[in-house]
Amino acid sequence: MKKKRNGNDLISTIGFVIMGILMIVSLFIPYPYFFIPFGLGLLVLFYCLFRVLSTNVEKRQYEVKSLSYKFLKLMKTDMSMYDKPRKIKSLVIGEKIDNDEEHVLARCPYCDKKIRLPNKKGKHGVDCPNCHHHFKIKIK
Ligand SMILES: [Zn+2]
Repeated sequence: MKKKRNGNDLISTIGFVIMGILMIVSLFIPYPYFFIPFGLGLLVLFYCLFRVLSTNVEKRQYEVKSLSYKFLKLMKTDMSMYDKPRKIKSLVIGEKIDNDEEHVLARCPYCDKKIRLPNKKGKHGVDCPNCHHHFKIKIK
């Protein structure tokens, strides 16, 4: 199965613009100092490419939401309309159930629903039956 990639988002768009400005600025700076904006531009470029190619889409989207949220707050926007973005746990730890050795409980990080799973040690992938998101669980 081919993994979904994040693609261009708000942060990488801003990044590409900053990179462009840094590269242009470096053209007007004499040797050897032009390496400073040029190097920074390259770093920004690599970070943007990392975002575009990243397969951890949920985490990248959380970063965009969280940045927008901080920006709105900074602009003194009325925040009652906006929910604070929730960080998605990348790994859920299975909870033991009293008097049931065969199962563990996992709380879906997307919809918060509790799911009963077979108690098998190790890391497993789970598809939430409620919201159909995929997440990883670790059972000790
Ligand atoms: Zn769910």
